[in-house]
Amino acid sequence: MKKIMIVGAGAMGCLFGARFAQAGYELVLVDVWREHIDAINSAGLKIETEQGEQIVKISAGTADAVDFRPDLVIVFTKTLHTAAALDSVCHLFDDRTCLLTLQNGLGNVETAAEFIPIERVMHGVTNYPSDLKGPGRVSSKGSGYIKIYGADGQRRKEHQVIAEAFGKAGFNCVLDADVERAIWEKVAFNAALNSLTAVTGMTVGEVGASTSGPLLAQRIVAETGAVARARHIAVDEDAIWQSVGKAFIEHAEHKPSMLQDVMHNRKTEIGSINGAIAEFALEAGVAVPVTETLYHLVRMIEQKHKS
Ligand code: NAD
Repeated sequence: MKKIMIVGAGAMGCLFGARFAQAGYELVLVDVWREHIDAINSAGLKIETEQGEQIVKISAGTADAVDFRPDLVIVFTKTLHTAAALDSVCHLFDDRTCLLTLQNGLGNVETAAEFIPIERVMHGVTNYPSDLKGPGRVSSKGSGYIKIYGADGQRRKEHQVIAEAFGKAGFNCVLDADVERAIWEKVAFNAALNSLTAVTGMTVGEVGASTSGPLLAQRIVAETGAVARARHIAVDEDAIWQSVGKAFIEHAEHKPSMLQDVMHNRKTEIGSINGAIAEFALEAGVAVPVTETLYHLVRMIEQKHKS
């Protein structure tokens, strides 16, 4: 496994791209943002970490300009752009190409499987932090973990090779047969904090310090837990709630990406977070009134910006 394509070269795509390129993998970044691509190709990708700023030479392009047959494709668009992004690059896949999604939310495997057989799709979660600072510039401070596994629940020898590649690139990555549980635990956390900050304009700490914020967050976590259990996924609701409580204090100033998206009049990932939980809830006959209401409120904010 030598050739890696990252589709969606924003905050996360650039962090992962920089590390894989530094580890000696042949790497190409694919994006639709021309100014960003030009900045990376002309001056290198600038990545700021605790160790200072590094400039990494990486090749970037739009899908139509890239001629590269990847062994591994990592999708890092926001979830609402996954289908368009994969549609633009899938002519470059062959019958050995593997695809990994570490995007937030639910439904990423289903979208990927429209473009590549599910046996070659991996899914997972990561909490490595990264922020886009401008064209050709990202900042990533702090460490994290990556949990991945075959999307069809099977473990194959390529999965070990991919996990080792993350290790060589300096990431803490494990193969985790229980990754679905980690995905649902993360979606519960995001469904609570992203939607509540996006609707109120409050930071994570302000939501936590408000009278109603913790109550609503707890209801969303409980509703998501009930949907997961109906799907036989044994999420640890107490652990999720503890992470939310910790975020209220330790990430008090944080503005989650969904809040930043509404502040910049951009569409959000609400459809694959609260929206997807509400869809699974309907299938399972579980009521999720708070999660669903937050979904509709964020959609209304998106529509207000559009008009
Ligand atoms: P981002 O908005 O910074 O980057 C997304 C990139 O995708 C942008 O550069 C955009 O131009 C590009 N894009 C949009 N449409 C495209 C298309 N059709 N083809 C190719 N590229 C396209 O987003 P991000 O913060 O890097 O997040 C990516 C995913 O990772 C999301 O699902 C997010 O929830 C998840 N995530 C983010 C973080 C974080 O700290 N940023 C942490 C964990 C998970």
